[in-house]
Amino acid sequence: MKTLKKLSAVLVALALACPTVFSVSAAEDSFSFDETTNTLTISGPITYDELQNYEEREDVKHIVAVEGAKFTGDYWEDAFYGWEYIESVDLSKADFSEVTDMGFFLSYCENLKEINMSGANTGNCEDFEDLFSDNDSLVSLNVEGMDVSSGKTFDECFECCHNIEVIDISSWDLSNAYVFSGMFYHCYDARSIILPETVTIKEEYGYYTTYNMFYETESVEEINLSGFVFPEGVDRDISNMFYDSSVRALHLPENFSIVSNMGLENAENGYYGNYLGWIDTAAEEDGIISGDGDYAVLDRGAGTYLRIRPTNKHEGTPATCEEDGVLDYYTVVLDTAYFPDGIIPEDYEYIKYYDENAVYEVKDINGDGTIDESDLVSPAIGHDWGEWEVVTEPTTETEGLRRRVCKNDPSHVEEEVIPKLDPEESTSESETESETESETESAADSAADSSKADSSSKASSSEAAKTASTTTTTNPGTPPTPVPVQLPQPSALQQLSQQQLL
Ligand SMILES: [Zn+2]
Repeated sequence: MKTLKKLSAVLVALALACPTVFSVSAAEDSFSFDETTNTLTISGPITYDELQNYEEREDVKHIVAVEGAKFTGDYWEDAFYGWEYIESVDLSKADFSEVTDMGFFLSYCENLKEINMSGANTGNCEDFEDLFSDNDSLVSLNVEGMDVSSGKTFDECFECCHNIEVIDISSWDLSNAYVFSGMFYHCYDARSIILPETVTIKEEYGYYTTYNMFYETESVEEINLSGFVFPEGVDRDISNMFYDSSVRALHLPENFSIVSNMGLENAENGYYGNYLGWIDTAAEEDGIISGDGDYAVLDRGAGTYLRIRPTNKHEGTPATCEEDGVLDYYTVVLDTAYFPDGIIPEDYEYIKYYDENAVYEVKDINGDGTIDESDLVSPAIGHDWGEWEVVTEPTTETEGLRRRVCKNDPSHVEEEVIPKLDPEESTSESETESETESETESAADSAADSSKADSSSKASSSEAAKTASTTTTTNPGTPPTPVPVQLPQPSALQQLSQQQLL
């Protein structure tokens, strides 16, 4: 495109040498240049090619159109494309009534800081694609009252204006527009994007697209689409509409069903993924409508949705063997400005928490239907007992003692009496086996008991040991029945060792 423009400029230069060209004197009259202010003033009708004579002029830093300035002809695409020296352009008084194509009109001007197109009568133009795109230095944009009522395509209209903070098109008549793709793409610093109050997109086009419309708008806080009326039953592409946008207050219109690839994810995906979820401000009770990997505002339609994010971190306490702990959590403070009455209902003081992956989640952990403090409890982990160690061997005269230590906390110690050895049993080999067996069973029992109820395990396991010892001593005359009694022994041992491994 630029090569074509250069060629055109050469042709114009040749044409200027020819006395039969009518526009020569008109053009000369229409342009004036002030060397002290580096300002090129347009005061009469100009052609596309005449304008291009000034593109390479390093001293042309400001362009001003005054009364009488007119952009003649319909084609003005790329008019100022890539003009690297201009710093300000004020075309608010120019006549654009003949213009139908303004694609890339003021685009890729790397030093352009100010644009004033307010009130421009661009009402016959249908194409506003990339109108102001890629003006990386742009900080001031006045397009108030600019007539875009015939405009159909606004794709990438403000794309990659990285430094502009306010884009106000609230006065624009977008009633013929249906292509909004990438309109504010990569407007990183735009904290305020002000859209028209009402935009009704025509059904007759059979299609509309908002693809990438707010893609990576990393500073914007609020987007109000509530006045948009999108036609139903037509083809559309709304994917990535909010991809990686920082928007946290989103006003959606009626009949706007959200799709999952709009870029409203809560977690993991994208730079702004680490939010807690979204809240529907109109919901009477639990307004949280997404979270835990879901997409925001799915199928909720019209309403105002707030993206919530953690504010105050509260340190939790780790669970111990016997005591429940509390997870780290964040309390969330919402901006009252977005609620209808300016008051946040008490219900919205939710407590949120996060897991060790630092992915913030909105989750009903305990499944009781509410998200509250009870979801923050991390249950006691239980003791992890080591193996029994005999402290004192029992004899026929005295009881013995054995001890085991918790692997989680060495201050947790459990001791158990080993019953006196039975004088009669100790004389027979088979009786000794029986004694060993009962002791093993009692150890298994006590291990099982302690994992269930730690506070009572000591008493119950001692009791079990006594019972076991009683059982063996109250049946001295019973002949050993090794098969039925010994069968459970391997499984009991296995059970014990498994618990120890845990
Ligand atoms: Zn323990």
